[in-house]
Amino acid sequence: MSNRLRVAYLERCIGCYQCALACARVNEKVLSVDRTSIKVRTVGGYEGAFVVVVCRGCLDPPCVPACPIEGAIRSRTKGGGVLVNRKICDSSKCNQECVEACPIPGAIHVDPDLHNAIVCRQCGICTKFCPTGVLIMEEPKSGF
Ligand code: SF4
Ligand code: SF4
Ligand code: SF4
Repeated sequence: MSNRLRVAYLERCIGCYQCALACARVNEKVLSVDRTSIKVRTVGGYEGAFVVVVCRGCLDPPCVPACPIEGAIRSRTKGGGVLVNRKICDSSKCNQECVEACPIPGAIHVDPDLHNAIVCRQCGICTKFCPTGVLIMEEPKSGF
């Protein structure tokens, strides 16, 4: 089953932010490039170089045991990655341990207004909006 997001062809990225905007629109119901699970950043300031920052969908995610609030974040049952329970997750009651534990800076972040962790839920919506095919959904084959 193809159910984990991968940034497969980064060299194709043109920095259009369509992935980020689609993720925010569908998953957060906002027009934003901040309240989104996938971030596009420029590297070094020269044209044509971008990085796409998103959860790698760990099969054994270190962000889960790091969280001090039971039930706030859990591993997905199929495929890699995690799901946040926004009714339980509350960054005013923790030290954002999930963010600290994640090996990918920026893959999970805490929204300052929602006080919730925002992280990819592996829905695949963004793959449909990227005009150059940077993103794919795949079957997890390894722990990373
Ligand atoms: S912000 Fe992170 S560490 Fe804090 S409750 Fe939410 S998932 Fe847990
Ligand atoms: S947020 Fe980080 S640690 Fe958690 S599953 Fe994603 S990449 Fe792994
Ligand atoms: S797979 Fe879904 S949740 Fe993850 S970055 Fe893409 S649109 Fe957002």
